[in-house]
Amino acid sequence: MTTDFLATVREAVRDETTLRTALADAEIAPLLMSLVQLTGDLDLMAEVAPHIQGPWSFLQNVPADLRQTVIDRLVAALQDYASAGRAAPPRPAPEVLQTMMSAGVGQPVPADYIALLLEEMSFGGEDTRSVRWRQPQPPAARAGFRVVVIGSGFGGLCAAIRLKQLGIPFELLEKNADVGGTWLENTYPGCAVDTPNHFYSYSFQVNNDWSRHFSRRDEILAYIREVVRVHGLREHIRFGVEVTEAAVDPATGHWTVHWKDGQGGSGRSQCNALITAVGQLNRPSIPHIEGIETFGGPAFHTAQWDSSVQLAGKRVAMIGTGASAMQTGPSIAPEVAHLRVFQRTPHWAMNNPNYHLPVKPGHNWALRHIPYYSNWLRFQQFWASSDGFHASLHKDPAWTQPAVSLNATNHRMREMIVDYVRGELGGDEALLAKCIPSYPPYGKRMLRDNHWYRMLRRDNVSLETDPIARVEPGAIVMRDGTRHEADVILFATGFQASKMLWPMTIRGRDGLTLREQWGDDDPRAYLGMTAPGYPNLFMLYGPNTNLAHGGSIIFHTECQVRYIMQALRALIEDGLGSLEVRPEVCERYNQRLDEKAADMVWTHPGVTSWYKNARNRLTVTSPWRLLDYWAMTREFDPAEFV
Ligand SMILES: Cc1cc2nc3c(=O)[nH]c(=O)nc-3n(C[C@H](O)[C@H](O)[C@H](O)COP(=O)(O)OP(=O)(O)OC[C@H]3O[C@@H](n4cnc5c(N)ncnc54)[C@H](O)[C@@H]3O)c2cc1C
Repeated sequence: MTTDFLATVREAVRDETTLRTALADAEIAPLLMSLVQLTGDLDLMAEVAPHIQGPWSFLQNVPADLRQTVIDRLVAALQDYASAGRAAPPRPAPEVLQTMMSAGVGQPVPADYIALLLEEMSFGGEDTRSVRWRQPQPPAARAGFRVVVIGSGFGGLCAAIRLKQLGIPFELLEKNADVGGTWLENTYPGCAVDTPNHFYSYSFQVNNDWSRHFSRRDEILAYIREVVRVHGLREHIRFGVEVTEAAVDPATGHWTVHWKDGQGGSGRSQCNALITAVGQLNRPSIPHIEGIETFGGPAFHTAQWDSSVQLAGKRVAMIGTGASAMQTGPSIAPEVAHLRVFQRTPHWAMNNPNYHLPVKPGHNWALRHIPYYSNWLRFQQFWASSDGFHASLHKDPAWTQPAVSLNATNHRMREMIVDYVRGELGGDEALLAKCIPSYPPYGKRMLRDNHWYRMLRRDNVSLETDPIARVEPGAIVMRDGTRHEADVILFATGFQASKMLWPMTIRGRDGLTLREQWGDDDPRAYLGMTAPGYPNLFMLYGPNTNLAHGGSIIFHTECQVRYIMQALRALIEDGLGSLEVRPEVCERYNQRLDEKAADMVWTHPGVTSWYKNARNRLTVTSPWRLLDYWAMTREFDPAEFV
């Protein structure tokens, strides 16, 4: 809610019919929380709460008469505020907030979430994660300081916004011709987010106009472009340049960044601090299959979609069954002659009834006009898609079925999904056996069922689970010799995530490159952001910062950018030349991280995934709750740095 609270309320009640029509579309939990915040009416909340059985709207089956009571009282409260010209109510006391949070998601929310969620929800409309100077800074103090940011996806743009707010000179280097990163490059049919959008967006740039709960790629890209426009970032971005190398001057801690422009040109940029924001999912991974070069037809990765290739009426072979396959397959199946899916391991996928739904017009109206509705919706989506179930992903040493699940809750989850998939497959037990993973649910990121199982029942779709031996002209040949003819091959095979910052060469203080330090698959950093030997280098979406229990990478990005801005502030305000994390700090952090990871689902022996390296070490994904990472990154501590 912005400071013009009263103006918003007066607008909301201007026409009662419009107000009531909108509220009929709105979600009950955020409506109720709005009412409680406006009136302090905890009794009604206590009456409604038992009907809210989870954070998703489809788990909130509030009887019609109670729902109507909430709406009537909310209308009356808004009218009262408007006619009396009352100011915004004070923020509820912490214990009341905790009760409200728990009631709103139908689960107990621990008290230690209050501070985090107040920040994420920002009731006053303030930009709660921006960093400010502690002392007035003469522009000259900042003028000599320069930052280079590599990448203009959600990460690099967030850094750019904060640098601009602080008035620190900076330049963004971007290999593509436009902003957006993931959301520019992935154009495959059905490409969409699987974190609900009212949470998967910047906390400081709320969008009340999403057309879907889980928006498609075009809409997310449009949002990113709007952010760039609002913050005037384009003039800071040099497009079409790919950074190949960066080296630090050990004497000063300053960096020289080398780039090439794709037309034979090259150049370099100097900076005091370097921020990499190259994403983990930016370099497609294409498996080496014998004979692939002989195929003869179009063969491309989902992240490099070739829209000149018409799939209608073609025999399409799709290799991979992960997140991109889940979105691509059902989107193309109705038009192709035949879709043959090649699966190495099945994934868990859950049904979310909101996944395919457009946002109702009244819901969007409420987001704009009902005080606190949008804030509470963001909290609900935060909880629904992240820490709400982190506890259930721990291994229970006493659990009796450790091969297939982790604990009793995880096992119930397994049974629930198996039942759902069985229903979707129409009771085809042979197909079900192929579709159910042997490892526990959440061993890999839980997918949202995009009608995948229904797709498998189509006459023109088949699922192959035997290993591929080779590719021949016009066909894929299995190890048992079966030959599957195909016109097009699609690689839905993910990204080279573990080769962090690859293929750039990043040379540190002792001349050692990160690649030499980390090898191909063992990246380590303090908080995923800084590494000993690499002063003034800060990574966004670096080692162990991917999210696999859910959540939004944007949340992590905002935490990281705040921390980095605090570090830059220390560099500038305290006139420090460089900052380098102490080796023992980084070492201790990674030990703690490894211990935590060992307790979690991602290191289950049955899980093979890109989250961990050849030695079963979790390198890509964070084992922490969002709350833990938020707390660890909230305050930059100079004592941890040289
Ligand atoms: C299909 C898909 C769906 C996803 N869905 C979700 C989701 O539902 N929820 C979620 O939390 N996350 C999701 N993700 C993860 C997603 O990558 C992040 O949410 C987020 O977009 C990452 O932003 P980023 O800026 O860190 O990286 P990116 O968006 O990958 O941007 C990196 C940028 O760096 C540039 N770059 C890279 N190397 C260089 C170089 N050497 N020189 C110059 N420029 C360079 C790239 O061109 C790119 O523009 C999804 C990813 C994919 C691929």
